[in-house]
Amino acid sequence: MILVKNGHVIDPVNGINEEMDLFIKNGRISSEFKINEKECEVIDAKGKLVVAGAIDIHAHIAARKINSGRAMRPEEFRRVRQKTGKFRAAVGRTLLTAPAIGYEYVKMGYTTAIEPATPSLYTLHTHEELDSIPIIDKAALPLFGNWHLVFKFIAENDIEKLASFISWVLEKMKGYGVKVVNPGGVEAWMYGSNAHSIDDLVPYYDVSVRDIITGLIKANEMLDLPHSIHIHCNNLGEPGNYETTVDTMKLANGIRNNRRQVLHVTHVQFNAFSGSGWKDMGSGTEEIIKLVNKSDNITIDMGQVIFGHATTMTADGPFQFDLHKLLKNKWINLDVELETGTGVVPLIYRPSSPVHSVMWAIALELGLLVNPDKNVISTDYPNGGPFDRYPYIMTLLLSRKYREKEMERAHKYLQRAANLPSIDIERTLEDIVKMTRSSPARILGMHNKGHLGEGADADVVVYDINPAEFNPDKYREIEKALSSALFTIKGGTVVVKNGKIAGDIWGRTMWVDATLRTTAEIIEPDLEEYFNYYTVNRENYGVEERWMRRAERIEVG
Ligand SMILES: [Zn+2]
Repeated sequence: MILVKNGHVIDPVNGINEEMDLFIKNGRISSEFKINEKECEVIDAKGKLVVAGAIDIHAHIAARKINSGRAMRPEEFRRVRQKTGKFRAAVGRTLLTAPAIGYEYVKMGYTTAIEPATPSLYTLHTHEELDSIPIIDKAALPLFGNWHLVFKFIAENDIEKLASFISWVLEKMKGYGVKVVNPGGVEAWMYGSNAHSIDDLVPYYDVSVRDIITGLIKANEMLDLPHSIHIHCNNLGEPGNYETTVDTMKLANGIRNNRRQVLHVTHVQFNAFSGSGWKDMGSGTEEIIKLVNKSDNITIDMGQVIFGHATTMTADGPFQFDLHKLLKNKWINLDVELETGTGVVPLIYRPSSPVHSVMWAIALELGLLVNPDKNVISTDYPNGGPFDRYPYIMTLLLSRKYREKEMERAHKYLQRAANLPSIDIERTLEDIVKMTRSSPARILGMHNKGHLGEGADADVVVYDINPAEFNPDKYREIEKALSSALFTIKGGTVVVKNGKIAGDIWGRTMWVDATLRTTAEIIEPDLEEYFNYYTVNRENYGVEERWMRRAERIEVG
């Protein structure tokens, strides 16, 4: 039992922004009144900020491509973050080893992270990677946007079969939700093409990008999964692509779910460029921000760029090929039969680059102007930069002075190609708590997370920030405090003390079982027939719960 005494608690879900005590029992927040302090571990949090554990909604922390990236970039592993001792060794600059991922997250107060792109065929490996990451809770989203069976059911306009197929994949792979990457485009690329607009067609299937997205939204809502579909839009990284993003968002029109959004658009920065080419590329955030703020069924995450080293890795094979040509840097390409592609390309974001500077500004525009209830902080790790720089992003959103200082470093092209210089807004601590806790929890449908109400997971963080004396001009101190939690408690265990690892536990891997909502038999003949045409068999798919370290099944229906 732990008693966190007299801390300044900010918990937007329960309308709390005041000094109060928190009591933790059996790994959950408890509201018992008669507490015998002598029986508790007491943490004095007087004059300190107390919040729920943060959630990373989108970070490539497992799956095959981070390992490809690690193999491709030995230079990333010269930095030793922690030597072996009581806890495991942790190394890596921006690409981290699995132990380093868990440790670095909890040091900044993050207690849950979502691997957002696992090919079904390789999901056993994804779970093995996730099982090597200590402390944090995890989940993985299988890729659906280029599965041949998805195209088939959509071509037949059979949403019921599509829903059954989604449920089959989630159960087999122990996945959490539906990820869509460059829908139709990765398949088209196998024929030397791509999908640039929502009306482009997938070769041989006669389905459009529009059909794929709306079909998957409808099937996801038919199953009423905890999370909506999670989309990486077409045309990522192309000047002028904000128009495709707006067209994609409009596909959610008229589809509703009372609990949450029906479309989560991820790392929007990479899909919010204006211009007709790199010479006139600029910020295309204006229309996107208006649309997200007025819609109650769309949410986003930022996809912030951090100046310095990064490694781009996505299932968007054609984009990775284009980037490799543009940067003339080393490149890995991988194809997954039936389902998806992948590419990996290292990159350095430089403040001296006009384009990189504008990208940096675009994400901040989204962070400052999109309603924090509909927006989540992300870097699309490791695409936009390392996740351990989240405190930098939070501080930039909190402090106009810090932004101005950083803008001086950036290329002056930013001044005319982005809107950031004219934005005076400073986010509040409560806004930041929303963008890192309550919003990702609600968007993912994780009801025990993102808040500190009775029965919530006892994921609690104490920061050396006094909300009563908060001064955004002291940005160095704020960033330092957010980088290094005084205490991180995970599921009722103290895992960080004064910014150092103090305890090592294993978190859960959550997966969604929707089989009660569907009739698996209706897709049996299709599965039987389809796997005749490929080198992979049905038996190549599947992960058993008992093979996972700590699986948590979430049943719907
Ligand atoms: Zn991503």
